Amino acid sequence: MSPTPASSAEVRAPTYRLKKNVPVPYTQNLPDIVRRNIGHWTDRKYHGTGIIEHISDTGDHLFTVKAGATPNARFSTETLRKFAQIADDQGLGSLRFTRSGSVEILADSLERALAVKKAVEEIGFFVGGWGHTLWSVNSCTSYLTCTTAVVDAPSITQALYDQMVPYFTGEIPLPAKLRINVAGCPTACGGLVADIMLAGHYGAAPSYDPDKIRLCLPTNAKVLSHVVPEVQMVCPVNAIESFARPDGSVGINIIEKKCIGCGRCKDVCDHITWDPSKVGVSVLIGGKSSNTGVGPTLARVLVPWIPVRPPKYREPVAVVRKIIDVWRAGAKPGERVADYVNRVGMKTVFEALKVPVGLWNRPAELNTGFGVREFLPR
Ligand code: SF4
Ligand code: SF4
Repeated sequence: MSPTPASSAEVRAPTYRLKKNVPVPYTQNLPDIVRRNIGHWTDRKYHGTGIIEHISDTGDHLFTVKAGATPNARFSTETLRKFAQIADDQGLGSLRFTRSGSVEILADSLERALAVKKAVEEIGFFVGGWGHTLWSVNSCTSYLTCTTAVVDAPSITQALYDQMVPYFTGEIPLPAKLRINVAGCPTACGGLVADIMLAGHYGAAPSYDPDKIRLCLPTNAKVLSHVVPEVQMVCPVNAIESFARPDGSVGINIIEKKCIGCGRCKDVCDHITWDPSKVGVSVLIGGKSSNTGVGPTLARVLVPWIPVRPPKYREPVAVVRKIIDVWRAGAKPGERVADYVNRVGMKTVFEALKVPVGLWNRPAELNTGFGVREFLPR
């Protein structure tokens, strides 16, 4: 006899839990000046890169100081305490960690905002990433919590930052906002909507241990005739085929010409392996989510694959620097990478960058008009 289902009274959460607020109201975590001005902020003013003044119709003024966080917002508790101390000493006891990799500290005067900036720089961080600058580089978590990482995105992000501080602080001017995303694999958590996007990618099909691969397959030909092995089923492009031998044993073939190097087969079978020398990234350009210029666009493949070599990651850093140089030289004021690419054409960008055109980045096959505006009446 099947067990009687629990009544709704029996499964109800304890009363004290039902009284809790989920999520905790954010107003509880706001300084008084913000709480009493909700709905009253009417204007704003910039004070150099990374400091913005918010002006309320009540006469109150508030200042946000924006600093670049660590790649993937990985902080030691010691560093967090230093930020908290700065927020307490010079600010209003308020910290915000943005989803795109910045730390924001609130202050109640320009003088105190400048003191926050000085203190942040003294602990080794930079204030910036606002307006026509490089904004915080967005990095996925990669190996630290993810099982599908191809490259260590936070380390690549660090290498990029090491070369690009003047773009972040505004010391070297840029034509417009610049957003760079680094993803550990083609899944591209965080989205393909950055001006420049690096995504971890294998430059070749995987291989497998011919003996151990049977541990990921049905035990014999008879079973195989009834099921599709998971390692074959997960392949999005049918690049894996399974077969039975006359002796009843089973095996697979990986068809290199079809494989797109997505890594899904490896996710479900530990006996699929990659050649470590083929670990690299794809470089994409021209994505953005804002409605300026050509509107929101997805990024397009510029370089299908280049190797990554820690710790300096010279190849991807050089490509990103070159893209920025070409964009700075050719863009009109206020023109994001996507708008620049749309105006001059992808072919011109390829030529300016001297990127060889291959199967996966032929300009003629790239639709530079993709975006919500494509769906609007003309
Ligand atoms: S982009 Fe890939 S490696 Fe990075 S978190 Fe997402 S799935 Fe993991
Ligand atoms: S890496 Fe992706 S495309 Fe290539 S064989 Fe494995 S599942 Fe298929």
